[in-house]
Amino acid sequence: MTEGDQAAISADSDVYDVVIVGAGASGIGVAIAIQHAGIENYVVVDRDTVGASFAAWPAETRFITPSFPSNSIGMLDLNSIGIGISPAFNMRIEHPTGQEFASHLQSLAEFFELPVLENTNIVDIQKVDDLFHLKTEDQTVHSRYVIWAAGEYQYPAMGHFDGAELCQHTSTIERYGALEGDDFLIIGGYESGIDAAYHLALNDKKVSVFDQNCPWGAESSDPSIALSTYSFERMRNQKFGDHVDLHPESRVQSISCDEGVYSLTTESGQVFHSNRQPILANGFDGSHKFVSHLFEQRDDGFPSLNEKDESTIVPGMFLCGPSVRHDGHIFCFIFKYRQRFAVVAEAIASSLGFETEEFVEAYKSWGMYLDDLSCCGQECLTC
Ligand SMILES: Cc1cc2nc3c(=O)[nH]c(=O)nc-3n(C[C@H](O)[C@H](O)[C@H](O)COP(=O)(O)OP(=O)(O)OC[C@H]3O[C@@H](n4cnc5c(N)ncnc54)[C@H](O)[C@@H]3O)c2cc1C
Repeated sequence: MTEGDQAAISADSDVYDVVIVGAGASGIGVAIAIQHAGIENYVVVDRDTVGASFAAWPAETRFITPSFPSNSIGMLDLNSIGIGISPAFNMRIEHPTGQEFASHLQSLAEFFELPVLENTNIVDIQKVDDLFHLKTEDQTVHSRYVIWAAGEYQYPAMGHFDGAELCQHTSTIERYGALEGDDFLIIGGYESGIDAAYHLALNDKKVSVFDQNCPWGAESSDPSIALSTYSFERMRNQKFGDHVDLHPESRVQSISCDEGVYSLTTESGQVFHSNRQPILANGFDGSHKFVSHLFEQRDDGFPSLNEKDESTIVPGMFLCGPSVRHDGHIFCFIFKYRQRFAVVAEAIASSLGFETEEFVEAYKSWGMYLDDLSCCGQECLTC
């Protein structure tokens, strides 16, 4: 979309029915569902460009969930964000890199002709009477409903131990192959930590991974809790075995740096040294902290949502994406949280007076409308 088109959108619509904040997998996916539900007066805004978080992944990092064009029997590609879409078919790639998936999202935004305002940073949201006021750096946008889909990647967790500021978070690494140094200390042994260790090991670096738990030993078959199959396969690589030391149940107490030598001390008193800045792979605080005034908090800090993924204290404020939680269910992968896009779109469309029966039936038939959570939490057989 050109700047002229963007200006036209702002000028034409004094009040949007819906503003979607974030043009990642969630924002683009829920925008497609909003369009399918018949809503036309909406816009997607992004502080950067479509798929910006994916584009910022380290160059070597790939999707852990595989893509496969299984759509022909009504079973969506695991990495698809909408009905009929298959990244595997579009790109002929099973485990896309972040940059590849960002391009995929850009092509979807063009194909569906989604109204996207790029380079539009939302700096504040308030609800006044029945309208949301969304402040950007130079204007205020008004809307009846807001869908917060600003993700987690751009809001990293910076660690809660002494000296955490001396570390480099994985989200700021452009390419593992370009990192200098021979000995690496990685704090966090879930997907990002194992991914970092794997790529460094392939480059013949010596790596120590510390985790307060033991993600590679978890019994669950839920990839939101245990490591993915893809990571287990990588851990069986010869170079990973030769170069990586895993330290489970090792909570980091502090990091210090003296004359270019970093020292990591665990709570049990073990000390490890490296002449390279330690890598933080401890996940993300998430953008929901930015809108915490619009949601009640659960005990675990995630937003409290009703059965339509709407705020329990501010009607009209919805959440989409990896921060969606219901009881113990964690919707942190695309194949999980995409099933809630249509629940949100239906809630908004029906309250705007649109007929939604056909829309819901179509989404249900593709496994894209999950309103009964009693089926979640099943474990795979151990056979
Ligand atoms: C290393 C890694 C590997 C992963 N692998 C997989 C995988 O294999 N499979 C899988 O399903 N998931 C995977 N995930 C998780 C997946 O990346 C996330 O689920 C996904 O990025 C979430 O998409 P999103 O649209 O919610 O957020 P994002 O992709 O982060 O998009 C949010 C968008 O919001 C914009 N934004 C943020 N704040 C503002 C603001 N204030 N105003 C305007 N715009 C704003 C950003 O620019 C961004 O474009 C992985 C994550 C990581 C970090």
